[in-house]
Amino acid sequence: MSPYKTKTRVLKSSKRKMTQKMRNMRQKKIEINYDSDLTANNPVLRECSTPYKIIFDDNPQQALSNISDLNISEINNHILPLENENCNYNDTATTNCLEGRRIVDIKHLFKQIQNSKHGKFDCSFLDMEFKNEIRKGYNSVFYFKCKMCGTTSSFTSENQNENKYLEINQAIVNGTLAIGIGYTQLSEFSASAEIPALSSTSYIKILNNVSDSVNNSAIEEMKSAGEEERRIALERGNVDDKGVLLCTVIADGQWSKRSYKTKLNAFSGAAAIIGLQTKKVLFIGIRNRYCCVCQRARTKKEAAPSHLCFLNWSKSSTSMESDAIVEGFLQSVNMHGLKYNKLIGDGDSSVTKKINEVLPYGSNFQIKKIECRNHLLRNYCTKMMALTKRADYPINVRKCISNNILRFRSDVTKAMEHHLNTNLPVQHQITELRKDIENSLYHRLG
Ligand SMILES: [Zn+2]
Ligand SMILES: [Zn+2]
Repeated sequence: MSPYKTKTRVLKSSKRKMTQKMRNMRQKKIEINYDSDLTANNPVLRECSTPYKIIFDDNPQQALSNISDLNISEINNHILPLENENCNYNDTATTNCLEGRRIVDIKHLFKQIQNSKHGKFDCSFLDMEFKNEIRKGYNSVFYFKCKMCGTTSSFTSENQNENKYLEINQAIVNGTLAIGIGYTQLSEFSASAEIPALSSTSYIKILNNVSDSVNNSAIEEMKSAGEEERRIALERGNVDDKGVLLCTVIADGQWSKRSYKTKLNAFSGAAAIIGLQTKKVLFIGIRNRYCCVCQRARTKKEAAPSHLCFLNWSKSSTSMESDAIVEGFLQSVNMHGLKYNKLIGDGDSSVTKKINEVLPYGSNFQIKKIECRNHLLRNYCTKMMALTKRADYPINVRKCISNNILRFRSDVTKAMEHHLNTNLPVQHQITELRKDIENSLYHRLG
């Protein structure tokens, strides 16, 4: 046996002993843990263990008495600044500290300050001190008390008797609709700007009311646009043989879904008629062929509950535009006292067809159709693009066309501008323009 081997055996045996020793120690430690009741002896641990028992206990009375056992007297002193605000269900908050920013009608506010002179001591705003603020969403009333005579005056963030503009809360909710955000984004935005915001319940309440205001102001705007068009028509002497004023309009439709020549199955669409002279909207027609309440009821095979239903169309999406435009033509005399004698529109034949069918102003009143320049040019570019896709032409020619499409287009518009400014007779201008358009390609290609 080599000395080396003996040595290893000794080492091995000592190692075994060590391991055994450690194992014994660990066993002992665990026994201690099991034996001793730490919670019984330690007051801190006993206190802490109580709340856990509460959770599993089904006796609330017991739970409450256990909570009162806890030492919470120190916490009572921490008053949060929000405690000052007395919020109730109609979103009114009273604060006596002036903090953050507000949205105010600046002219109205300064006017109130300028008119704040009062009392026999000739005191004004400068002698007043802030008392409190009563806030309803974004609308505030500030109360100030005069240090000289004790008079209390109120200053409003906007003129509440003025009905020329939407009330601020309604205006804000309307704004969120216009930019497509909801309550969460609005409150986040207000918080960033340090402006106290609306509560979510008020937001929803206002949202329901705001649609009426939007509708009313849209009608008002359209009426005033009609008056303006009528005045211009009268100045220019555009009157038909029955003494009704005539005006040229632009009309086009839009859908809720992008459907450029494919997948024309949008759920809602609208069409607008715009006066050429004022560039203002004279009519809007909206068609919806989907209502989620009605649809849900239909899926469940139940009767739909009473609701504000916007469903007003059952035919195809493509026919929404022409139907809405024709409706605008039919109402033009009632609404504005005008007849739309010329229609500038896209190359959509369905509108022309429908107008020729309905003949809104009687069988001997023809509405002249004018092609919209933008649509004509767009079609011109689409046709040019189609040429570049044709493999039977050499590649260098196709590349040259596709690189110059926008230039070809601008050549046409430049030619139009040039001929419009010449003093030649209209027929002459047209023939010249036609020549120029035909030549524009050669001109650009050298
Ligand atoms: Zn005073
Ligand atoms: Zn419905």
